[in-house]
Amino acid sequence: MKYPDLSNYIGGKSTPSASGKTLDVFSPLDGSLIAKMPLSNASDLNEAVVAAKKAQPAWAKTPIKERVQVFFRYKTLLEKNMTELSKLVQEENGKTFDEARAEVEKSIELTEFACSLPQLISGEWLEVSAGVECRTEHAPLGVVASIVPFNFPMMVPNWTIPNAIALGNAMILKPSELVPLSSQKIAALLKEAGLPDGIFNIVNGDRDIVEAICDHPDIKAVSFVGSTKVAKIVYARATSTHKRALALGGAKNHILVLPDAHPAMTASNVAASMAGCAGQRCMAASVMVGVGEVNHIVEQLCDESKKIVAGKNLGAVISTQAKERIERYITEAEAEGAKVLVDGRKTVVAGSEGGYYVGPTVIDHVRPDMNIAKEEVFGPVLSILRTGTLDEALAIENANPYGNAASVFTQSGGLARYVTEHASAGMVGVNIGVPVPREPFSFGGWNDSKFGVGDITGKSSIEFWTQLKKTTTKWNPDARTNWMS
Ligand code: NAD
Repeated sequence: MKYPDLSNYIGGKSTPSASGKTLDVFSPLDGSLIAKMPLSNASDLNEAVVAAKKAQPAWAKTPIKERVQVFFRYKTLLEKNMTELSKLVQEENGKTFDEARAEVEKSIELTEFACSLPQLISGEWLEVSAGVECRTEHAPLGVVASIVPFNFPMMVPNWTIPNAIALGNAMILKPSELVPLSSQKIAALLKEAGLPDGIFNIVNGDRDIVEAICDHPDIKAVSFVGSTKVAKIVYARATSTHKRALALGGAKNHILVLPDAHPAMTASNVAASMAGCAGQRCMAASVMVGVGEVNHIVEQLCDESKKIVAGKNLGAVISTQAKERIERYITEAEAEGAKVLVDGRKTVVAGSEGGYYVGPTVIDHVRPDMNIAKEEVFGPVLSILRTGTLDEALAIENANPYGNAASVFTQSGGLARYVTEHASAGMVGVNIGVPVPREPFSFGGWNDSKFGVGDITGKSSIEFWTQLKKTTTKWNPDARTNWMS
C-alpha cells in the first residue's frame, strides 16, 4: 500500500485517530488499494476544535496584510509542486493528469483572490452627525468547518481554505473519505508557507464527523459541498445548532442547442462538458435540449464524443458502485425507448482492467419523464431531448429541481439573452459548455443546488466567513488637555 500512514492533522501535527477504525481507499485508475483512512470519532473532532480555538485569537489579531503573506507563499508552493500534486489528485480521484493539473491551476487562482482580500475588505467610515463617527470592519467568526466531496480533492478545499483563513478564522477540513490524500499535501504546504499550527486542521471520517461538526458548539460556520441529499441534512442540522451554513448540492445541467448554433463549436464544447472529469462535475452538461432541426449538430457531437477515449483523454469514475449506477441509467433509458448513439458501457482499459471506466455516452430521444432526464447521473453521459420551440426547452430546464448551471448555443444575441434571462440556474452560459465564473466572480447555484445565502467563492464569500462590526464613536470636542503644560 502506497500511503499506509494516513492520519488526521491537528495543531500542526500528524495525529492518529482515537477510534482505531479505518476505511480502505482505492485508486479508480486500476482499483488498487492505496491507503487506509482513519474513521475518526467525535473526540478526534473535539481535539481539532480545541487546537483551532487556541490558535485562532492570535491569528485574528495578526493584521490581514500579514496573514495573506502566507497565501502568497502558498501560491508559490502550489506552483512549485504542480506536477506532484496533479499526480496525487489523479491517483486518488481517477481523472486525467491534465484535468488534475487544471485543479491545481484553479487552486492557484483561488489563492490569488485570497491575496487580494486586504484590498477588498477595507471598511467604511462616515461622520454620521457632528462629532460622531461610524466605521465598519469585517471580523472573523472563530473556528469554522469545510466539508468537501470527492470530485475535486484539490480545488474544492481551496474554494474555502484561503478565503476563510486569510479572513482570520481557523478551519477544520473534513475531506471526502474517497479522496483523503490531497488534503494532507495542502496541510504540508500551508505549514511550509508559515501558517501557524492549529489554524488549519484535518479530521478524516464519514458521516459521523459531519454530524459532529454540525453539533459542535465551538464551530461557528459550516460550508458543505456535495450531493443535494446530504446538503439538505447538513444545512438543517448545522443551522439547528444556530451556526451559519452554506451547503452546495448536486446538479442537473441543461444545454439548449438552437438550430443556428455553430455546429463544430457546439459539438466540441458539449462533448467536453459532458465527458470532462468523467462527467463528475457539478457543472457538467447532463441534458442537451435540441430545439427544432439540430440533427447535423447531434451527428458532429457523436463524432466528437468518439474522440474521447477512456484511459487517454477520459479518466475513471470514482468507484465500482458509481460505474454500475451510471450504466444502470443508460440501460434503463434504452429499455424505455431512448436511442443510445454512443455507448460507453462495458469500457475496459487495457493494462488497467481493474479501473472504473465508463466511456462517453450519447443518448437521443430521451423523454422528460425518464429517470435519466430527471436525476443526477454524475458520469460521462449526455441525454438529448427534442423540442419544437425555445419556450418548451426552457420549460424543461425550469422544471428540474436543481439550478447550478444552464447554457445556450446560438449565434443570435437576442435568443441568447432570452435564455439567460429565463433559465432557472445560478450560473448561465452563452456558447460555453461549462459556465464556471472565474475569480473575482462567485460560484454558486440556485434552487436545490444550494442552501443558504450567498456564494462560496469570490467577493460573496467575504460575507460568509466574516461578521460586520459597526463601531460608533463620539469624541468630546471640549476635552482639550495640554499634557505638556
Ligand atoms: P456526498 O454528498 O456523498 O459527500 C459529500 C460529503 O458529505 C463527504 O465529505 C461525505 O463524507 C459526507 N457525507 C456523505 N453522506 C453523508 C451523510 N449521510 N451525512 C453526513 N455527511 C455525509 O457527495 P460526493 O459523492 O462526495 O460528491 C458528489 C456530489 O457533490 C454530486 O452530487 C455533485 O454534484 C456535488 N457537487 C456539487 C458542487 C457544487 O458546487 N454545487 C461541487 C462539487 C460537487
